[in-house]
Amino acid sequence: MLPKNFNLQLRNKIFGGSRIAPEEALELFSWDIIELGKAADMRRKIAFPKEEVGFIIDRIVNFTNICEAACAFCAFHARANQIYSYELTIEDICRKVEELVQAGGTQVMLQGGLHPDYTLDTYKKMIKEIKTRFPEVYLHSLSPSEIVHISRKSALSINNVVKTLKEAGLDSVPGASDLLVDRIRKKISPKKISVDEWCEVLYTLYHNNMKSSATMTYGMGETDEEKIEHLAVIRDIQDRTGILRAFIPWSFSPANTRLENIQPATGIEYLKVVAIARIFLDNITYIQAGWLTEGLKLAQIALTMGANDMGGVLMEEVVVKATGIKTKTNRRELVGIIKNAGKIPVQRDSEYRVTRIFHDNA
Ligand code: SF4
Repeated sequence: MLPKNFNLQLRNKIFGGSRIAPEEALELFSWDIIELGKAADMRRKIAFPKEEVGFIIDRIVNFTNICEAACAFCAFHARANQIYSYELTIEDICRKVEELVQAGGTQVMLQGGLHPDYTLDTYKKMIKEIKTRFPEVYLHSLSPSEIVHISRKSALSINNVVKTLKEAGLDSVPGASDLLVDRIRKKISPKKISVDEWCEVLYTLYHNNMKSSATMTYGMGETDEEKIEHLAVIRDIQDRTGILRAFIPWSFSPANTRLENIQPATGIEYLKVVAIARIFLDNITYIQAGWLTEGLKLAQIALTMGANDMGGVLMEEVVVKATGIKTKTNRRELVGIIKNAGKIPVQRDSEYRVTRIFHDNA
């Protein structure tokens, strides 16, 4: 028997592989989680027919937490007083990159606050030095907000900034999208970029032949309509550019932020977001299960409801840890979790090419 509120026409559309409209995606929030999960897994098989689940060995290097944006949802920036202010030197950064290389890691994500004194030159030197010393490392680094910040500080166009950083050795830029809804952004991160500016950076990356990704931080007081609004911006960007390698949703962790009174999103809400994203974003191949914020067990379940990547092992992560989250993992554990979900664990590079298949726990 079909569950209550079940829309057979929409079900047929999803199982037939057709694109769904935003209003239809909204309706999916009221679906039974098991039905929704099955539909999402079927769409995952259309987008990615293999049963492989990838991960990468990477390291986030948060080079400074001094930030003039002071977003209400952030526990990391120095003015949130959770961590003392700091700035890493190029030597400090290179030491961390060296540790990653020695551990067999391949990707570095340089991320920092919007430091009032950093200009294009600061970032250029940082990137150039890392690439000169470690040419084998892939720099999936900075963010659209940092790119706009640099362009303002240096009085240069976004295109000029992207071009220069690419020439210095920047390989790709994470989408760091937060929630692409201006009503929410004005409330919680008014000094950060607008939705239009985010799109402008993505188009500029596209024109410079660079790839990106998209994320989603939900559970910050938005409505379900606004969650779909966010997904619609991402689907549209991907239709126009094709530069998004992956989509990574995670729930907002309110502890230690100015939004501490917000009730954290539940596990079911997370699984629904993953499943709806998989069905709605019919033009993105990889959807990552967010083990860092959701925990390893929930991320494992997400692999059966639309997700097909576990992201990075993350040798170092400070931003989420500032909210009190302590989840850690390693390659052995991720391999075990992926296998236990009935999938084939694979190590991959930043371009999602498989570099190792794990037939046995390793
Ligand atoms: S989220 Fe980023 S831009 Fe906002 S305060 Fe934190 S470090 Fe700064």
